[in-house]
Amino acid sequence: MNISTLSPAFLDSTSKDKFAESIGQALTEISRFFDKDQFYSGASVSQLKQQMQTIVGKLDQPLNLEDTLSELKELYLDHAIAFHHPDYIAHLNCPVLIPALVGDFIASSLNTAVETWDQSTSATLIEQEMINWTCRLFGLPQTADGVFTSGGTQSNFMGLLMARDDYAFKHLGVNIKQEGLTPDVSRFRVFCSDKAHFSVKKNAALLGMGYNSVVVVETDERFKMKPEALQAAIRKEKQQGNLPIAVFATAGTTDFGSFDPLNEICAVAKANDMWFHVDGAYGGCFALTHTHKHLFDGAQYADSITIDFHKTLFQPVCSSAFLVANQQNFRYVSHYADYLNPIETKEADFQNLIVKSVQTTRRFDALKLWFTLRMVDETDLIYYLETVHRRAIDAYELLQAQGCFELVHEPELSTVVFRYQLPNEATNAQLDEANLYIKNTLFNSGLASIASTRLNGNIYLKFTLLNPNTTVTHLQHIIELVVTKAAEYANSQELIVRSR
Ligand SMILES: *Cc1c(COP(=O)(O)O)cnc(C)c1O
Repeated sequence: MNISTLSPAFLDSTSKDKFAESIGQALTEISRFFDKDQFYSGASVSQLKQQMQTIVGKLDQPLNLEDTLSELKELYLDHAIAFHHPDYIAHLNCPVLIPALVGDFIASSLNTAVETWDQSTSATLIEQEMINWTCRLFGLPQTADGVFTSGGTQSNFMGLLMARDDYAFKHLGVNIKQEGLTPDVSRFRVFCSDKAHFSVKKNAALLGMGYNSVVVVETDERFKMKPEALQAAIRKEKQQGNLPIAVFATAGTTDFGSFDPLNEICAVAKANDMWFHVDGAYGGCFALTHTHKHLFDGAQYADSITIDFHKTLFQPVCSSAFLVANQQNFRYVSHYADYLNPIETKEADFQNLIVKSVQTTRRFDALKLWFTLRMVDETDLIYYLETVHRRAIDAYELLQAQGCFELVHEPELSTVVFRYQLPNEATNAQLDEANLYIKNTLFNSGLASIASTRLNGNIYLKFTLLNPNTTVTHLQHIIELVVTKAAEYANSQELIVRSR
């Protein structure tokens, strides 16, 4: 193959027309996806696996774009989950803003990697401005800094890594980055509520502290961490000779959207000389709103904060940030590589963002947020967030009016957790089965997607409202479907009973 037949495959000045044409063809397929009237086709797992089987045998035969797109349509586009659909209210996936997509597209096309200045130039400055904006959102001090990450899990990882290394350095004189883990680390303890995200435990394991290092603190009836229970748990661990190093508070728990009382928890953490992290992966963006701003009181004293723009600021995945109150703490992740960011550049008049990240090659995800903030009025963003919160309250009231649901909380953010109660007295196992039936048959029908979770060991259903276009009418329709599925289940059970 000679160069001239190869080159049109690459994006450069000779192939711009082909690029535009290709993207145009892709856009046609994308708009078809957005025309669908269901969130899902309802295809079964075996149908999709079979679809893949018809293709795998032919993977060594390259296709042109048209054929690749039509193959992809049948394999994926026809069956992809439509998060923009008002009847999709399952997980923390949001519909995305067009300005953010434009930013994403530019970032991908230019393929900027935000690791060193000589790879990213002013992209470095754009990311830094987005970090500064986010630091101001929480009222962090001048010394604060941050970095974009792949998501809340990675941001929480960085928070725990810094908490671990900072404690070891300050209290034990140990440099973990240099020496690795010492036996004392097995006595490190991290505290979070029993409704905190699983990534706290997962990260503790990844960081060599083990699941056992995570002490789960009781929550109150609104699923908020009890400060006095935290204090008691810390005291108990100290008595046992363990070393409390950090508290991970949650601003918007994944299931209940509940906010731990940050000010009170912060006071307990500081009194015990512990790192105070605020996990705002889900709730963080609500610091913009009038309805939830007060719940962030205390976040300004956090040592570190997690915020996911891809959860609640209508950004495509990934768009997420980790903030730290004292930028010096990035020393626990920084590394100077001769070929990339030699130590001489430490004092240069430009930044190599790589010194703040656990990644090396990293996407220019900040450009999506940049486009969003340049093009969308902040008042509109606030309105969208307050709308999805309002929708959760609407859903709560509609479910309550039905009389056949057990509601476990008044929505604090944009989720509602509840379960269907069978007409006759039922065991928890029967209730679990009934509620799973509702969730699964709804999903398979392609008509609506809702989530499930566990509370006190039992299955509950969950609505996650993140789409400002989901209206009360949509909710009424989804609840009708839930009730229909519930009746279907109850009837099928009666049939079994009768046939015995
Ligand atoms: C979703 C979530 C995370 C994890 O974020 P990812 O972006 O999915 O990695 C962490 N904490 C909370 C509270 C979350 O809701």
